[in-house]
Amino acid sequence: MPRQVSRKPKEGYKDIAAERIQRLLELADKIFEKNRDLADRYVRLAWRIATKYNVRLPLGLRRKFCRKCLSFSRPGVSCRVRIQSGCVVTTCLRCGHVVRLPCKTKKQHKR
Ligand SMILES: [Zn+2]
Repeated sequence: MPRQVSRKPKEGYKDIAAERIQRLLELADKIFEKNRDLADRYVRLAWRIATKYNVRLPLGLRRKFCRKCLSFSRPGVSCRVRIQSGCVVTTCLRCGHVVRLPCKTKKQHKR
């Protein structure tokens, strides 16, 4: 008889995953100026952990990298940030991916 192996992940795994993602993105932020390839690698690792454990990244961390090419984005260096008709438009300078985020609050929309 085959041994029963529990495939259910242990409790608290999401917290550990979130911590690791945060740490990796902090490291990417620090190393970016010295070694961009390494920073991109850290982003890819963080993204792999996030997708494996189904962790939702906080907004601050989600904007730190390009979701298409998974490269670390720093405004003015690897991405362009502009404001166009009430939206923050971020363009990745590596792959050209454009992200539009509305910068108006809900109250302003109602007027
Ligand atoms: Zn990109």
